Amino acid sequence: MSEPQSVHWYPGHMTRTKRQIEKSLKLVDIAAEMIDARVPVSSRNPVLDSLIQNKPRVILMNKSDLADPAQTERWIRFYQSQGISAVALDSRSGKNLKAFFPLVRDVLSDRIAAWRAKGMVGRPVRVMVVGVPNVGKSSFINKLSHGGKANVEDRPGVTRNNQWFTLGGGFELLDTPGVLWPKFEDPLVGERLAFTGAVKDDVVDTEHLAARLLEVLCVSYPAPLKERYKLQDVDFTGMKGHEVLALIAKKRGMLIFGGEVDTERAAITVLDEFRGAKLGRVTLEQVQK
Ligand code: GDP
Repeated sequence: MSEPQSVHWYPGHMTRTKRQIEKSLKLVDIAAEMIDARVPVSSRNPVLDSLIQNKPRVILMNKSDLADPAQTERWIRFYQSQGISAVALDSRSGKNLKAFFPLVRDVLSDRIAAWRAKGMVGRPVRVMVVGVPNVGKSSFINKLSHGGKANVEDRPGVTRNNQWFTLGGGFELLDTPGVLWPKFEDPLVGERLAFTGAVKDDVVDTEHLAARLLEVLCVSYPAPLKERYKLQDVDFTGMKGHEVLALIAKKRGMLIFGGEVDTERAAITVLDEFRGAKLGRVTLEQVQK
């Protein structure tokens, strides 16, 4: 196996971001932590735990349309075993987004019953979405709010940058999500986020990244890889990612002047096709037993 490359990306204003998220959390009843179902570990920043403390939370496993459904199910059961409710979403098509509402109601059932007992009829459930960049927070918010305008109200905490979408069904959604920086100390985390396209490709070596991804896929998801690139006759055992990449370039007729294979072009193709789930629905991080 070749070495992972470290992704250098300075998240900047961490303290300010933390403070902003803390402030917004005070305004809501529940935090919806959005993660990428393909990389449930790497797309989660544990800093959120310390920020939300005892505030109720749900986990939204977004981009589940691109992830391995069996693994997503396993993750949902795992979070449940930890006492956290989770749901698989696809915020691009909007399929299953409605499952979010009963999930939140269920998590907050005691609280909602207490509001009722106190005569707080019509008290809306206030929610904010938190997650690392590119996980799909804006897509989710736009889909749920039908692209509508956020309400401007004279209410404490409601400023120009801090408005609410009324979602119907007694829900209000903070219009701006909390953007958490990813946790990059572990090079594998940066690399897996780069595989998914969450990190801009211009900060990574594309060929190396594609080669590393192929090494992972050769072990975990060889069948769709073989099918896509017509490599059924190839035995991946012991093969380096760069060798697989060269084979793909050859199969696709990607050549440069002089007849050499164009591995750079092949790398871009592999990454694009992986991100579009053309190499199958893949989850890169499994629940540890
Ligand atoms: P944000 O940075 O968290 O607000 O992420 P965006 O909402 O801007 O989404 C980043 C990219 O992921 C966009 O290209 C979206 O179209 C795409 N995206 C968001 N949610 C999903 C999803 O559930 N499935 C798929 N396939 N793509 C998604």
